[in-house]
Amino acid sequence: MKFDTIVVRAAIEPDPTTGSILPPLYQTATYVLEEVGKNKGFDYTRSANPTRQLLEESLAAIEGGTYGVCFASGMAAVDGCMKLLKAGDHVVCSDDVYGGVYRHFSNILVKYDLSFTYVDTSNPSAVRDAIRPNTRMLWVETPTNPLLKITDLAAMGEIAKEYNLYYSVDSTFATPVFLRPLEFGADIVMHSTTKYLSGHNQLIGGILITNREDIFEEMKFVQKTIGAVPSPFDCWLTLLGVKTLSIRMARHSANGQIVAELLESHPKVDRVMYPGLPSHPQHEVAKEQMSGFGGVISFELKRGISAGKSLMNSVKLCSLAESLGAVETMITHPATMTHGAIPREERYARGLTDGLVRISVGIEDPEDIVYDLKQALEKA
Ligand code: PLP
Repeated sequence: MKFDTIVVRAAIEPDPTTGSILPPLYQTATYVLEEVGKNKGFDYTRSANPTRQLLEESLAAIEGGTYGVCFASGMAAVDGCMKLLKAGDHVVCSDDVYGGVYRHFSNILVKYDLSFTYVDTSNPSAVRDAIRPNTRMLWVETPTNPLLKITDLAAMGEIAKEYNLYYSVDSTFATPVFLRPLEFGADIVMHSTTKYLSGHNQLIGGILITNREDIFEEMKFVQKTIGAVPSPFDCWLTLLGVKTLSIRMARHSANGQIVAELLESHPKVDRVMYPGLPSHPQHEVAKEQMSGFGGVISFELKRGISAGKSLMNSVKLCSLAESLGAVETMITHPATMTHGAIPREERYARGLTDGLVRISVGIEDPEDIVYDLKQALEKA
């Protein structure tokens, strides 16, 4: 099957009992045994559930991987991945990661004697310089949230191989429609399924995908032991959302390019970060490894924070909300919303200023999005 067909059909067969074209929703906690020691492959939903299993198989196939393990949120998936490590291990991590990932690593995991070095992973020599004898994992986010930095995944694959590191990629912004990190040597791909994969702001979820059986076995063990599992209903809703992923991503990307170009040419805008713009510092790498650039854009206005705030308060169609990757256009203030956990000094050192505005361009008619932004920019 070709990629777009896999997105619509992977892992889903008509229900053998009724012919239902959609898979049944197994909203159950437990399963009745035929006799002691004999079940039908399922014993308790924390360990496994048929609806969740279908989602794991479907997303693994779309990502080009062998195994998928679902979690109750993107953050639970990140946490699951970190359970591959033990006290004393060190992680080299992209400096511009999602604020919740930074909060988890630097407030919780450090208490368990894991250590983290944040580097600009778009610079491979900075990554090499950060590696220590106890480094065990490379955690890469590309494109990053919120600055849209791009990491050369093939270069990271070489480093991970040379130093025998687990190589994990948070590919939430790109989705398998535009980027498939396993093809560049990644061991683990992580997604917040809350975003583009489910696509309609209807749930919170996460997944880890791998080709390595040893990692899969460990992640299944973590999933069933800790129990941060998504509900069968959320898995079923995700299965439905995923079916339109390819066409949604094409529209997000087309609309994203239009909005990025509008912003870049606007006299009130100082800088725009979008991998589809030739002005983006890693535009060439992005073009090489991705087949589209998605719908997330960050920008700063010339008059800084006060103009940014009045823009965000003046939009009418765009929703002022904390998330991204859904069909509705959403606008966010990273410094006070998604990345509030990062100390101000550290945020500024990374280029994440108080004036930064992030927009997740939806799939509405681009003329309406542009109209709304133009009228809000006039007031900014
Ligand atoms: N990774 C990225 C890049 C994100 O943007 C987010 C959430 O915004 C997460 C991980 C965490 O996902 P969740 O909100 O589903 O826990």
